[in-house]
Amino acid sequence: MSRTALRICPLCEATCGLTLTVEGTRVTGARGDHDDVFSKGFICPKGAAFGAVDGDPDRLRTPLVRRDGELREATWEEAFDAVAAGIRGVVERHGANSVGVVLGNPNVHTMAGALYPPVLLAGLGTRSVFTASTVDQMPKHVSSGLLYGDANAIPVPDLDHTDHLLLLGANPLESNGSLCTAPDFPGKLKALRARGGTLTVVDPRRTRTAKLADRHIPIRPGTDALLLAAMAYVLFEEGLVDTGELAPHLQGVEELRSAMGDFTPEAVAGTCDVDAGTIRTLARELAAAPTAAVYGRIGSCTVPHGTLASWLVDVLNILTGNLDRPGGALFPQAATDRTPRPAGPSHGFALGRWHSRVSKHPEAKGELPLSALAEEIDTATDEGEPIRAVIAVAANPVLSAPDGDRFDKALGSLDFMVSVDPYLN
Ligand code: SF4
Repeated sequence: MSRTALRICPLCEATCGLTLTVEGTRVTGARGDHDDVFSKGFICPKGAAFGAVDGDPDRLRTPLVRRDGELREATWEEAFDAVAAGIRGVVERHGANSVGVVLGNPNVHTMAGALYPPVLLAGLGTRSVFTASTVDQMPKHVSSGLLYGDANAIPVPDLDHTDHLLLLGANPLESNGSLCTAPDFPGKLKALRARGGTLTVVDPRRTRTAKLADRHIPIRPGTDALLLAAMAYVLFEEGLVDTGELAPHLQGVEELRSAMGDFTPEAVAGTCDVDAGTIRTLARELAAAPTAAVYGRIGSCTVPHGTLASWLVDVLNILTGNLDRPGGALFPQAATDRTPRPAGPSHGFALGRWHSRVSKHPEAKGELPLSALAEEIDTATDEGEPIRAVIAVAANPVLSAPDGDRFDKALGSLDFMVSVDPYLN
């Protein structure tokens, strides 16, 4: 006999409510939960595929342990014994930092993913931690850490109430967005326009999201920071800065005015390939809207000066009084952390406490760039040991990391590897 179970989709940050059909121990169907107050029945094709995933014959039902060169089915006890022996041997021979841990994107979408990896890392004592976040969003974490003292205090646009959304480097009509926690992001953009709000999209490509917008700015790739700085310049120059209730909490506004002094629209127009008049219009529209939010995503992060662009996104929200107010950019609360956010300027965030061994990349949030993992395995230096073992949790870096082919080759030189994944990836 089948029954219904209400769950939250763990496949991305949108946290859509699911209504699952369960027969015995098998999920046989999934649809959107119309009573979910947040997602209101929306799910994307990934969420709708839960029944197919649960019944997929390729999904692993038991651990696999390599014996005589072949991965063979094993009991959980045998698997844990193999992991303990393999990891312990590497730590004893080469030290804790010779164990690399790769944390994939799903770790931040589940309660277990948020709770258990810190315990694993504390037990191992390794600094060789590589995450999916370093591929596409670390600039935002760093700018939030420096600005608010908390790398996870990332303001998200209040899509349901804003009057004006300036969106950079994001195509939520294809991706549903990220660093935003918005079920049915496309529907929210359409609702914004239907209630008379305006949508401006800054993107080198005429994406599906750009086609929906009131205004599309086809900027030259990698120049978002210049555009945003010029908009800040215009706000100062034309007396449009109005920080409202934020004023008592702000430090450094005059230093900011001075720092923006050279970034006139005319100075950046050629580099951005956006004419100066348009830049002034963007700034004026942002200041004039009753409420507004600037939102920058992957295209503004994965470029030179991505941290600067991420910071300037929040600077514009601050200068127009739109940070931390309804209709603007709001600080969400985490499900597993009751620390007040933001923590306060310059408190609680440090950058570069250690560096990667080969290319000396600074850590951020205790994480090193996933793009450096292959060289940390295959390159010897005078300093420290190469990585000799890898624990990959919900990660498939051969396919998803930059230079995955090099990582694929490097895997062959490891003493030990464990992959935690429902599929043989
Ligand atoms: S958008 Fe799709 S993958 Fe993300 S939570 Fe909703 S149903 Fe799941």
